[in-house]
Amino acid sequence: MALSRRRVLKVAGGLTGGVLAAGTIGFVWFRRVFDPKTPLGYPFPDEGGLAAALPPTPGCAEADVTESQIEGPFYTPNTPLRADLRERATVGTPLVIQGRVMSTDCRPIARAVLDFWGCDGAGVYDNKGFNLRGHQFTDSQGAFLVETVKPGDYRQFGAHRTPHVHVKAQGRETSLLTTQLYFPGEPLNGQDSLFNEALVLTVDQAPDGSLRALFDFVLAPGASI
Ligand code: FE
Repeated sequence: MALSRRRVLKVAGGLTGGVLAAGTIGFVWFRRVFDPKTPLGYPFPDEGGLAAALPPTPGCAEADVTESQIEGPFYTPNTPLRADLRERATVGTPLVIQGRVMSTDCRPIARAVLDFWGCDGAGVYDNKGFNLRGHQFTDSQGAFLVETVKPGDYRQFGAHRTPHVHVKAQGRETSLLTTQLYFPGEPLNGQDSLFNEALVLTVDQAPDGSLRALFDFVLAPGASI
C-alpha cells in the first residue's frame, strides 16, 4: 500500500518530535551527570560563615582548594539532616569519615554544609530512598563526622568505578564544591580515569575491621549566600 504524502509527513513529523524529545532528555541527563553545580539549597544556620574568632589552623598559612569532580548520575537532593547515613542493615564495612572544612587562609568554617552520598558495599545506590545519603553542618570548630559504609566498586557506562564517596560542601561565604573521595591501595584506582590522588582518604582499620578515615576540605571563597 502506497503511503500518502500527508501520512509520510505525519510519520516524519512524529520521528522528528521523538528525536527532539530524546535529545532534550539526553541533554538534561548529560548535564546532571557532568555538571557539578547542582545547588544544595539547605538553609545555613544563623551563625554560619567564616569563624572570625577562630585562629588559622596551626602550621597552615595557605591551603589549596580541594579539587572538584563530576557529580555523577546518582545525586539526590533534599537529603535528611543526619550524621549516620545508614537507615538499615546495609552491605559494607562500617566507615567513619571525619575532618574539618577550612577556607584557603586555613580558618575553620563553622556551619558549612556537607551532603554525602554513596553506594553500599555491593556497589548499589539507593536511588529511590535515602539510605547512605544525608547532609550535616560543621560544628563551631569547622569539624564534621559522618558514619556510612565503605562503598564497593561498580560498573557504569562501560567504566569500572573504583570505590569512592560523593560529597558536596559549601560554607555561607564559599563556592560550592562537588567532589569524590577515594581509598588508598584499591586495585581499581589505577584504572579509573576519575581517580585523583589528591582526594584519597587517610584510612585506619580498627581491630573489629571497621574503617576510620580522615579528610579536610578547603573551600574557595564565594559570594555570601
Ligand atoms: Fe558514584
